[in-house]
Amino acid sequence: MLQGVKTRGYPSLQELESAPGYPSPGRLEKGPVAVIECIEEIPCNPCEQACPQHAITIGEPITNRPHLDEDKCIGCGLCIPRCPGLAIFLVDLTYGQGVATVAFPYEYLPLPEEGQAVQAVNRAGEPVCPGTVIKVQNPKVNDQTPVVTITVPREYAAEVRGIRRIRRER
Ligand code: SF4
Ligand code: SF4
Repeated sequence: MLQGVKTRGYPSLQELESAPGYPSPGRLEKGPVAVIECIEEIPCNPCEQACPQHAITIGEPITNRPHLDEDKCIGCGLCIPRCPGLAIFLVDLTYGQGVATVAFPYEYLPLPEEGQAVQAVNRAGEPVCPGTVIKVQNPKVNDQTPVVTITVPREYAAEVRGIRRIRRER
């Protein structure tokens, strides 16, 4: 088991970056790209079938970790809701001056609304920085895994992987 998982319950950024599904710094600078944070050898492969660009490969055996062909990935995000492990994100470092976007699966209700100010959180659910929701996608094909996209200051894009759960007003 990876050291970060063993000691904290989730992997370190260094462990994730060395996985075959994590794009290179150079690719991240070019625009939206999938970030696959799937680092355990588990029998799973819907992500491989989900990508219309054939940018994700698992092959045989099925316990291989997903490999991202970062040059084939066009950043469509279709793989995000297909991952049962909620381990795929989309990061765009080129969104705007000093501003990045992070898209992630969000399986809680109520869903946030576009334009809403939110608290962006890291992989452990700890607050990182303020964010703004710019897209909420929940078509039937997502099979009840909505995808939320937020803007955050660019320097936090590698850390932010979700938002604090929205509380319904009583
Ligand atoms: S973002 Fe789109 S092109 Fe990139 S790996 Fe996912 S499904 Fe494939
Ligand atoms: S679908 Fe998700 S959990 Fe399954 S192999 Fe792909 S990235 Fe890993």
